[in-house]
Amino acid sequence: MAPFTANLQAGDAWEPYEPGEKAPASGIYRCEHCNQEATVIRGHELPPRGHHVHSSPLSIRWRLVVKRNE
Ligand SMILES: [Zn+2]
Repeated sequence: MAPFTANLQAGDAWEPYEPGEKAPASGIYRCEHCNQEATVIRGHELPPRGHHVHSSPLSIRWRLVVKRNE
């Protein structure tokens, strides 16, 4: 298992999230298209669509890669 997913609990289903959605957990989110990372606290909004620009037309999608213990 890759180290950055080691602290995710088995059985958690971490779907990719849209920009501006409220973070379901505190931790590090990574854009699944370009691997940019952002740290977001649970209940806060994920970075918006304009957070960074892709060279392709793909929109930002955030995936939780490191869940912080709360
Ligand atoms: Zn990106």
